[in-house]
Amino acid sequence: MNHTFKILVFFLFGISCLQAQNETYTASVEVKVSDTAFVNLRDYSNDFVYDMKYATDDNFLKTKVYDCAECMLRLKTVKALIAANKDFLKKGYRIKLYDCYRPLDIQKKMWEIVSNPIYVADPKKGSIHNRGGAVDISLVDITGKEVDMGTSFDFFGIMASHNFKQLSKEILANRAYLKKTMIKNGFNSFDSEWWHYNLKTGLKDNVSNQKWKCN
Ligand SMILES: [Zn+2]
Repeated sequence: MNHTFKILVFFLFGISCLQAQNETYTASVEVKVSDTAFVNLRDYSNDFVYDMKYATDDNFLKTKVYDCAECMLRLKTVKALIAANKDFLKKGYRIKLYDCYRPLDIQKKMWEIVSNPIYVADPKKGSIHNRGGAVDISLVDITGKEVDMGTSFDFFGIMASHNFKQLSKEILANRAYLKKTMIKNGFNSFDSEWWHYNLKTGLKDNVSNQKWKCN
């Protein structure tokens, strides 16, 4: 074995050792998260705009009911939401979030104020928000400006309904675009609220009342 060849063999051996180490390292840190586990959307994507209304007093409860403005959801909801956002990003839009998982105690507070199942789910049954499978969303354009959807979020009236058609062509097209893209990515729309989307497989998960950690 000449000297150059010995160096080459040593070098290749060294590389294969490094690769083996890397593989071991990757395998040891990989943690399998269940599709139904609650996770923080922020740990999976930075492409969303946050306007978490219940982490402020700018909501129909007129009080701040969340300690922090995080979007907790079951992992399968996060995956579908990221897929939908990728479609919006291709066209120069992105999802703005108003609400995600909602603990059952908050649902009870909402029901006390608006005891109307057209707008607020009865806590006895629980909302898909309480199951980590629903999101309240709108869209913003490339400049960060909110797309016109015709009413504000949590507008409790007929104008917020997908069936209300006395709106400008632009508003109807914006709502239709949001709805079409969300349905394509595994969500169902909710007739009386243009902002609300349920993961199609979200109803079979349990209602939850857990609180999330605020850093
Ligand atoms: Zn909702």
